[in-house]
Amino acid sequence: MTKPQTFGTIAQLPCPRFWRNATAVDYELAPAWLAWSAVDPDRIAFDWDDEEGSQLAAVIASMIPPAGAEWEERHRFTTEVTALLAARYGRWTCGWHWAVGEGGGGGVVTSWCCDSHSVGEPEATAAKVVASLLEWRDWLEELAERFAQLAPPAGADAEERSWHLERATTRLVTVVVDRTGAECGWYGLCRTVLTWFLSSTGMGPEAAKDAVDAAIGGRFMSWTTPSRTLVDAVGEDLAVGLTGEQPYRDR
Ligand SMILES: [Zn+2]
Repeated sequence: MTKPQTFGTIAQLPCPRFWRNATAVDYELAPAWLAWSAVDPDRIAFDWDDEEGSQLAAVIASMIPPAGAEWEERHRFTTEVTALLAARYGRWTCGWHWAVGEGGGGGVVTSWCCDSHSVGEPEATAAKVVASLLEWRDWLEELAERFAQLAPPAGADAEERSWHLERATTRLVTVVVDRTGAECGWYGLCRTVLTWFLSSTGMGPEAAKDAVDAAIGGRFMSWTTPSRTLVDAVGEDLAVGLTGEQPYRDR
């Protein structure tokens, strides 16, 4: 297992919103930056049963810092858990503590909060890690299902693709807003989900990210539920940007 880098370098990260859910500065284990191909549950199996769950919980319980440990030690624990999960099941697991709210970095996991609030007594903490991991996997499976339902059909013309892309964008943004509560940094997950969706339709990850950034245009803010009008505008901009066609309205 690669030893996570020391905490001292975290301040050098260009965007502070990532450090709570990144393993130190290991970009390979920052969920927001993973390609869809690295997290797609249809591509990456996850063999899980009660036996595996208890083995994992036992390993994690043995890694927990002693009561009264400084926060650096609690932080080191979570980065080591991420490295352990990634080595055991794959890089997709690194989002296990991308939790709802400010402590979690505006994610969707509810069984975890942050190092200070979530790392404590060994068995309870290990149980939270396992529950968080399973929540994250469920989220990825839910996304894969939604992506399949929302993808433009093969052979669709530009106008039809535009309609599908707009619909997909507004639905996915709405799901992310609901699940994150539009709390601190929620737009980071939103950007990742839209980028993953476009990648799932066959776009390259860089082109997908650029298209999403251009469509959102910095208009989504922390602690602000976007208006219906804004969500529609982002959907339309993404659809028009990718197809050159307005999404037609009355279907
Ligand atoms: Zn917290």
